[in-house]
Amino acid sequence: MCDQSPDRRRGFVFPGEAMEETARVEKQLQALEAWVLLAIEGAEEPEAVEQIRIRVLGRKGELTEILRGLGAFPPEIRREVGQQANTLKTRIEAALGKRQQVLRVALLEGLAFREAIDITLPGRPIARGSLHPLTATLYEIIEVFQHLGFSVAEGPEVELDYYNFEALNIPKDHPARDMQDTFYVTDDVLLRTHTSPVQIRVMETQPPPVKIVAPGRVYRRDADPTHSPMFHQVEGLLVDHGVSFADLKGTLQAFVDQFFGTGTRVRFRPSFFPFTEPSAEVDIACVMCKGAGCRVCKGSGFLEILGAGMVDPEVFRMVGYDPEITGFAFGLGVERIAMLRYGIDDIRLFFENDLRFLQQFPTL
Ligand SMILES: [Zn+2]
Repeated sequence: MCDQSPDRRRGFVFPGEAMEETARVEKQLQALEAWVLLAIEGAEEPEAVEQIRIRVLGRKGELTEILRGLGAFPPEIRREVGQQANTLKTRIEAALGKRQQVLRVALLEGLAFREAIDITLPGRPIARGSLHPLTATLYEIIEVFQHLGFSVAEGPEVELDYYNFEALNIPKDHPARDMQDTFYVTDDVLLRTHTSPVQIRVMETQPPPVKIVAPGRVYRRDADPTHSPMFHQVEGLLVDHGVSFADLKGTLQAFVDQFFGTGTRVRFRPSFFPFTEPSAEVDIACVMCKGAGCRVCKGSGFLEILGAGMVDPEVFRMVGYDPEITGFAFGLGVERIAMLRYGIDDIRLFFENDLRFLQQFPTL
C-alpha cells in the first residue's frame, strides 16, 4: 500500500521534488501492474475477482489512493503520471471484466454439465408387478360370465349363520352342516363357508329375474395339498320363469368352452346339495390326458370342477319368492380351476408369495 500523508494530498509539490515523486508513483504503478494482472488471471472464483477489484479500485483501493494523491502534483506531471495510472486502471478494469465473464461462463457450463438431462438416454424400465394367478383366473371366470349376461354381486365375508346355512335350507340340526367345517365367530356369526349367502342377500333385495355371479373369499377348517383354510369361489345364480336344467347345462358348457377350449367334454353326475334339487357335480374331460386317463384324473379321464343344481323351492320360499319360480345355481372353486389349468399340484403354492412361483405366470 502506498503511504500518503494528508499534507501531500492537499499540499503543493515543489518542482525539485516532482521528479522524485513521479518516479515513486511510476514505481508504485509498475509494482501494482506486476501483481494485479496475474492475480486476476489466477482468480478461480467470481468472489476472488471481486476481492481484487476492491483491493485495487475500491474506495480505499491501491490505485484509487495513487490517483487521489496525484492532485498535489504540478499539472504537467499530473497529466503524464495520471495518464499512466488511468491506462493501468482501464487495463485492470478490462482484465477484471474479462475474468468475471470467463468465470461466469465456466460456472454456467459446469451447471449445464452437472444438471444436464440427456433426453436421448433410454428410460429405465419400471418394475411392474403382475396379477396373482388366482386373481387373473378369478377375473377371467367373471369375464366369461359377464359375456353371458351375468352381473357381479358381493357380500360380507363375516356372515350370519342365517345367510350361510339356514336360508340355504341348512337348519341348525341338518346333517349337511357336517359337510363343511366352519370357523365360528359367535354362535350366530361365522366366516362364510361359501359365496352362496350372496344369492340370498340379492334375492331378498330384488325381485326376479336375477342373473348374478358372486366371487369372493370363503373359509373352511381344512388344510392339505388340495385344501386351504381360505380359498375363492364364484357362485352363480339365475332365476327367471321357465328356467330348466338344460339352461344350466348350456350355461356351464359355454363357460367350459370359453375357459378350457371349445368342445371340452362336460359330464354331470347326480349329487346332493341342500339348496339345490336336483343337484349335480360337474366334471370336464381331464386337461392333462384329454379323457384317456392319467395320474391327475386318477385314470377316470374326468376332473370335477364345480357343483350345480336347480334352486330348491324351499330357498325361494325363504326369500319370499313365489316357489313356482325357477332357477339354477352353481359354485366353482377358483383355486381348483387355476390348479387344473396351470398344472399346479399343491394349493399352498398360491399363498406362499414365492416370486419364483409367481413369476411363471404371464402378465395380463
Ligand atoms: Zn387325465
